[in-house]
Amino acid sequence: MEAYLDNAATTPINPAALEAQIQASQIIGNPSGSHRAARAAKELLEMSRERVGLRLGVGASEVIFTSGGTESDNLAIFGSIRDSQVALSSAIEHHAVLDAVRASKGRLVGVSSSGAIDLNQLEDELKDWGDSVGVVSVMMANNETGVVQPLSEVLKLARKYSPRALCHTDAVQAPSYLDVAELARGFDLVSISGHKFGGPKGVGALVVKKSSGLRAMLYGGGQEFELRSGTPNLGGIAAMAAALDEAETNREGNVRRVEGLTQMLRRGLSDRFPALKPNGMESPQMCSITNYCFAGLNSEEILFKLDSAGVYASAGSSCASGALNPSHVLLAMGRSKLEAAGSLRLSIGVTTTEEDVEYAICVVGDVIDELAAKKGIAWG
Ligand code: PLP
Repeated sequence: MEAYLDNAATTPINPAALEAQIQASQIIGNPSGSHRAARAAKELLEMSRERVGLRLGVGASEVIFTSGGTESDNLAIFGSIRDSQVALSSAIEHHAVLDAVRASKGRLVGVSSSGAIDLNQLEDELKDWGDSVGVVSVMMANNETGVVQPLSEVLKLARKYSPRALCHTDAVQAPSYLDVAELARGFDLVSISGHKFGGPKGVGALVVKKSSGLRAMLYGGGQEFELRSGTPNLGGIAAMAAALDEAETNREGNVRRVEGLTQMLRRGLSDRFPALKPNGMESPQMCSITNYCFAGLNSEEILFKLDSAGVYASAGSSCASGALNPSHVLLAMGRSKLEAAGSLRLSIGVTTTEEDVEYAICVVGDVIDELAAKKGIAWG
């Protein structure tokens, strides 16, 4: 038996998205050309842009296709700041934002022990930096804990103290479960990534509000309204648009089902380990992600044993090397290094079944018991 509980890392492709990708890949033309084959490609590109814009509550001309969440986030940060302006973000952003902010000598705002941005600290930073702030970037839902960030408060503070700053939200984890159009209302820039909601890997979008004045990071043929040069990944874009349609159409039902499965998972594990509490549970959380700390155990050992038994999970955000550093998100929430080094993220998706969850509860329970016994730790 196998149970895939790593949907926050990536999701299985949705059948409608796969079909759209296959159809689009049969189009020969380059959308930048002018003959009939090119026009067919252009038509599909613009149709996909309309579909994505409609779902995100913006005009088609405000949707810039990119190679994924990382590129969208980088474009949002580096494209916003000018001269000596600073970028401000929370300390729990994905590395695609965090490292861009650090590279531009930006400022990071802390979070509470329950994983929500500290609004008082944000206010202080905004007061101090005022119009020197080029961009304020706070994610919609955290990819490790699922904690939904108070975006409307963030926006209010940013507009009050730094009216010239662009406001960006990384909504990469949100489609399927949250109303991105509603939560991102008023933001200038919004990142999404196809593979997090049933689309293919390697394609994403950045919403760029017309008035933002964002600058391009890639120079070349001037595609995507001069903001992202390069021949677009038409198959990926068409598939992502189809996946977003599916995700939005089925959102209510998906939330209900995934929430039920997450509750079942949490109940099953707290029956075995009564002392265990999911990280971030005191804040509003997205229904799909559960994150635990098994202090004294080692994430790599846990994941290795789970993998051997066919349960696929992760310790937090995935990284190309597969190497696990203690999570910056959990450390920012005040967890100790010992706690963070034993973290486990289980993320349910729209294709997860009850059988998957039942199996995962058994396997996770047994693996933790075994590793804890070896180290002489009593868990619950
Ligand atoms: N932002 C968040 C919140 C994510 O979870 C991820 C991926 O894990 C990314 C950005 C990066 O997206 P991509 O894998 O499409 O580059």
